[in-house]
Amino acid sequence: MKDDSCVSMSAMVLGDVEGRLPEQIRVSLGSAVVMGLAEGKLAAKPSTAYLMTYRENKCAANCGFCPQARGSRGRADMLSRVSWPVFPTEQVMNRLREAVNSMLVKRVCIQALNYPEVFSHLQSLVKVVNQKMKVPISISCQPLNDENIKSLAEAGAERIGIPLDAATPELFDRIKGVHAGGPYNWEKQFELLRTAVSIFGKGKVSTHLIVGLGETEEEMVKAIQQCVDMDVLPALFAFTPIQGTLLEAWRQPSIQSYRQIQIARYIILLKIARSDHMFFDSNGHLIEFGVEKQALEQLIQNGLPFQTSGCPNCNRPYYNEKPSGPIYNYPKPLTGKELSKTREELSLPEVWTFE
Ligand code: SF4
Repeated sequence: MKDDSCVSMSAMVLGDVEGRLPEQIRVSLGSAVVMGLAEGKLAAKPSTAYLMTYRENKCAANCGFCPQARGSRGRADMLSRVSWPVFPTEQVMNRLREAVNSMLVKRVCIQALNYPEVFSHLQSLVKVVNQKMKVPISISCQPLNDENIKSLAEAGAERIGIPLDAATPELFDRIKGVHAGGPYNWEKQFELLRTAVSIFGKGKVSTHLIVGLGETEEEMVKAIQQCVDMDVLPALFAFTPIQGTLLEAWRQPSIQSYRQIQIARYIILLKIARSDHMFFDSNGHLIEFGVEKQALEQLIQNGLPFQTSGCPNCNRPYYNEKPSGPIYNYPKPLTGKELSKTREELSLPEVWTFE
């Protein structure tokens, strides 16, 4: 770990921005290693620096899969299977600037918990990053109104992500909405996504969809189409059970099913076919991608559908998976061996079933 005294940023007046800059911030362990804030060996380096707002208490919301949730007994330094140690914000900004200048970091992604001052914190963080370095900033957050979205655009964020997480209104309510004791609402989330597109522009708004929350492949593929039709980029995650969360006993989705959804997402995103050109059986399993065999073959062969999806330069190494596998989202271009493996996985019978 480097000594921060040699890169003293006493001249950096962090408080000299509107709003309230939080004194501490969480950094994903992989990003902390890349930025020299922590030591460790990385199987793959993140090309985006992942930061997360810090507060002593947990999030005010209660999403069933999330260790940060109000009702979760999970570790407060976890999000998915990644740990997020806390550092002083000033130290993080110093190291981030060095990592950006040396091209180790190509984007900053700030994930936000839900608490009363969060948008003032986010605004200040975005302004400080923009004052001190030249790097695109993505914010993944849960705005409550249009003003929250505007405040981030005005502060200088390049992109915004507003997570849907679940693929249907019923699952959304059960997992993060009214039935989970959470503040979110499916229709409102779409309304906010539409507002975000009108403020940030087409192609600058993302959402997260978690595969394995109880939806069918058909429901997930239709949700993907709905997002793409709104010019919202859907990023796919595989459900990951975390100890202490409401869903701790649930299983991860089958890798075969995940691979199929990755391909369907890619086809929809590239506008090669729409979800209504695809075929599903009576149980909602995807049985036809709606494209020629040769086109499908090319998509599988280039491996792009199986890489991490999200903002440019986001690779989130091992966010949903152990490096030993199964690898749901590859953090870099696939090797020949990995391509053969994805091919096998696509034709494997389902070994894990959702309960
Ligand atoms: S809003 Fe985000 S941080 Fe809060 S419980 Fe939901 S997923 Fe977790």
